[in-house]
Parts: sequence; structure tokens; C-alpha cells
Amino acid sequence: MKNIDWSALGFDYFKTDINARAYYKDGAWSKLEYTDDEYINMHMSTTCLHYGLECFEGLKAFRGVDGKVRLFRADENAKRMQSSARKLCLPEPSVEMFVEACYEVVKRNIDYVPSYESGASLYLRPVLIGTKVGLGVKASHEAMFIVFCSPVGAYFKGGMKPIKVIVDRMQDRAAPRGTGDTKVGGNYGSSILSGEKAHTLGYSNVMYLDAVEHNYIEECGAANFFGIKDGKYITPKSASILPSITNKSLRTLAEDMGLQVEERPVPVSELKTFEEAGACGTAAVISPIGYIFDLDTDEKITYGNGNEVGPNCLKLYNALQDIQYGRAEDKFGWTMIVE
Ligand SMILES: *Cc1c(COP(=O)(O)O)cnc(C)c1O
Repeated sequence: MKNIDWSALGFDYFKTDINARAYYKDGAWSKLEYTDDEYINMHMSTTCLHYGLECFEGLKAFRGVDGKVRLFRADENAKRMQSSARKLCLPEPSVEMFVEACYEVVKRNIDYVPSYESGASLYLRPVLIGTKVGLGVKASHEAMFIVFCSPVGAYFKGGMKPIKVIVDRMQDRAAPRGTGDTKVGGNYGSSILSGEKAHTLGYSNVMYLDAVEHNYIEECGAANFFGIKDGKYITPKSASILPSITNKSLRTLAEDMGLQVEERPVPVSELKTFEEAGACGTAAVISPIGYIFDLDTDEKITYGNGNEVGPNCLKLYNALQDIQYGRAEDKFGWTMIVE
């Protein structure tokens, strides 16, 4: 293991030794290449720079209690990148190539996987860009696939902490028949302004609502939303929500612990009826929500005392982290041991 102060890490780029690359040209993918070069060389008229022909993924590897390094559900990220690529008419990386690149990048940077005790992890960032040079708006039949990694700090230092969320109808993240269900850069571009506004006002996330009625919950920042009440795990269903792999895993674990799972439209008016609420994604697993403020209606909702983590959020968080860190049996086959 490298001599790095894992506890000082946040969520930032940190140089490691090796990244993986593959190129699509003339109808086929090249073999994966491994390099220590952090830069890519491209023409100024490359389509990804102009028309947003770009999608990415985010997943993690963890050093377990037994010293083994586990990669979490990389096949799911591979399938999601394929669905993003299809929507942008980009060449699709095969599941095998995607998983192999992730596996090799972890293996070749194994000394950068943080210590078990630190609660930190190795974040992997696969990215697919259209590399055709041109000016016209059309599909790119040339592409580049990259996987690099960066050690990242424990999301919650000193225990889980509830976040404050703002409902703001100023900016929609995605349209019903747009790209909301795919992990493309454009969705992020259209969420920065409202995100910055939320931060200025002292909130960590914006609750995005559906773009038609502004009545149904879509996403909580760059994370999915879920609420708990009456023994149920309830999460919004919509064509413009990104299918979070963390959410998918939590639904399985929720059912496993006896909660009923509901995926359906969730109106904003239902927020006040939940006993617990949270945002979920790879970065934090679960960010419990303590307080929600609706900027347009002035409504304020507090879960618990606003500062404590609900029992179901905590149980779900621990159940998932126990699998990721090898403390519990991986009975769903979610992890791949790298070394
Ligand atoms: C990446 C992402 C998530 C979380 O997905 P995970 O697979 O759980 O990391 C949720 N919402 C949006 C908009 C995202 O981009």
C-alpha cells in the first residue's frame, strides 16, 4: 500500500499509476491499452467537445476486512454505459471489455486502494467520448473509452450526517423523453446552475422535479431519492431518472430485511408523510435527508430532529457497506475479488 494519508482524501482527482484505453474505428474496438499518460491528445474539432457526445460511469473498489480488494457490480455499470452509448449513437463498449478494463485498472493500481480501517475506497471513472473530427451534428463513429481511478476519502468522516435539501423549480435536469435515464455529461451541465444556487443558500442538494408538472420527485442532486414509511421503501419511477445501481442494490436489501418495495411516481406533497428519507448513489451509498425546504411554497419538512439518522437508513447503509467491505457474505454475487 502507498504511504498516503487516506483520512485526508476528499473526492478529487488523485494521480495513480495506470489507466486503460481502447479506441473504436472502422467498426471495431482496439485491444485495451494500459498507460501512465494522464493526457489525451485531440483535435479541437472533436465532436465530444462541441455536441456533448460523452457519457461516463462511476463505481468503487474496496479493501475488505480480510485484506481482499472487491470491485462492486461492474457488470451493472457496463450495461448502463451501453444504454447511455445507445442514446448518444456512440459505439458501445462490450460488457467484457468494460469489466476487464475496470478489473485491470484496480489490479495495476492495487497499492492505491485505501486501507480497510480508513473507510476510504478506490473510485473508478470509465468515460466514453465521441472522437470523430468534424463540424456537422451527427453520430460519431469513432470513439475512445478510458478507465482511470482515484482513491477517495470516506464520505462520512465521523459518522453519517443528514443533509439539507432544497426543492427548486428554477431549472429542470432532464426532459421526459430526453437523456435523464442515461449518465451523460449534458445532464450535469444542466444542473450546475441550480446546484450552485443551492450551495450558496446552504443546501447540499437540489431536489429535481419532473419537467412536465413540477409535481413529482425525480432526483436528489446526482443521486436517486427514496423514502421510508409504514414498512415500505418507496422510490420514484420516471423515464427521466437515472437507474442508480446503489438504489437497485438497496431495493434488494430492503426486501431482504422485510421492507416492501414500491417504485412509483412520488409527488412532492408526499415528502412530509415519510418517516425517513435519503439520497443514494455510489459516492455516499446513502445520504440521509434531515431537512427539506421548498423554495416556492415555503414548506419546511424535518425528519426526526433533522440531525439524526433514521433506523432503516442506517440498517440499509450498513447492510450494503458490509458486503462491499467483506464483513458480510456476498449472497447476491455483487462483488468481484481483484486481489
Ligand atoms: C450516477 C448517478 C446516480 C447514482 O447512481 P449509482 O449507480 O448508484 O452511483 C443517481 N442519479 C444520477 C443523476 C446520477 O448521475
